[in-house]
Amino acid sequence: MSTRNIVSVSGGKDSTATLLVAIALETENLQAVFADTGNEHEQTLQYLEYLEQATGVPITRVKADFSSQIAGKRRFIETKWREQGIEESVVLAALDTLQPTGNPFLDLCLWKGRFPSVRAQFCTLELKRDPMLEQVVIPLTEQGDMILSWQGVRAGESLNRRYLPECDEVGGGLFNYRPILKWDVPAVFEAHRYMGIKPNPLYSQGMGRVGCMPCINCRKDELREIALRFPEAIDRIERWERLVQQASKQGAATFFAGSNAKHPKGSISGMTAIEVMEIASIRQAVEWSKTTRGGIQYDLLIATDKNNCASAYGLCESGWAPHQIMEAA
Ligand code: SF4
Repeated sequence: MSTRNIVSVSGGKDSTATLLVAIALETENLQAVFADTGNEHEQTLQYLEYLEQATGVPITRVKADFSSQIAGKRRFIETKWREQGIEESVVLAALDTLQPTGNPFLDLCLWKGRFPSVRAQFCTLELKRDPMLEQVVIPLTEQGDMILSWQGVRAGESLNRRYLPECDEVGGGLFNYRPILKWDVPAVFEAHRYMGIKPNPLYSQGMGRVGCMPCINCRKDELREIALRFPEAIDRIERWERLVQQASKQGAATFFAGSNAKHPKGSISGMTAIEVMEIASIRQAVEWSKTTRGGIQYDLLIATDKNNCASAYGLCESGWAPHQIMEAA
């Protein structure tokens, strides 16, 4: 039996710093794993190549595959939706759209008929945790190896990370280790400097977090920056919204979940798909991100308040205001 040290890397500063700690400690049997969500920025994918080459630590890429879930959903639509009396045009539109694309983020949303949200953040588990477990960790534990899973989590990031232990046992030979739990943002960038490793260039381009582009937890100012600097990311989400909308029974799906709390038209649940898209689509969210005041309450405002990603595994970065990043970097 051997001990494997596996660092989950996202291309963000915290997971990179964690990898650098493992290297500085001359950790044996070290490997890094990156889960490609399919909603990553090209610069992050390039950064991983740089990181691999600059550190000499191999980075295993994993990707979730939802082909079988989509096939199951097609069978469900063909039978149950029709039994439920769903309009034939809706059934046919869903069947027409529901084909695996090979993009994990899009396929997950097609399967679920919706996008993840702050309250239903299934993306972290489905796109990151599960493929890492299934494709890397479980095969190693099945051959009798002990796994130390290194996670780039900091207590200061959010309430649900504040009380995590530095080390805990998951079971079956798997242990979590969070070596930078007590670090602050300057310490994270200092580790990059000390080890001679450049941070992901997205931090110097106004991004407060590195991960999905955009993340469902992104802040209002981040969304504004993304739309300004990377308009193709917004175009992609707009295309995805149309597809997921077609695959949803309600005929409505928006990347950011709108709440009825502040919308003058009242409850979104009572609106038609077109009305929902008109007030809560990614385009509308971008327009709103350019304003200084409220209007619709999107999930991204709630996320700002909590400064929070629900993942306790450090698989997705919590957000920081760009000026905090710039000051520390
Ligand atoms: S929480 Fe954000 S970064 Fe993480 S998987 Fe979901 S959308 Fe992507």
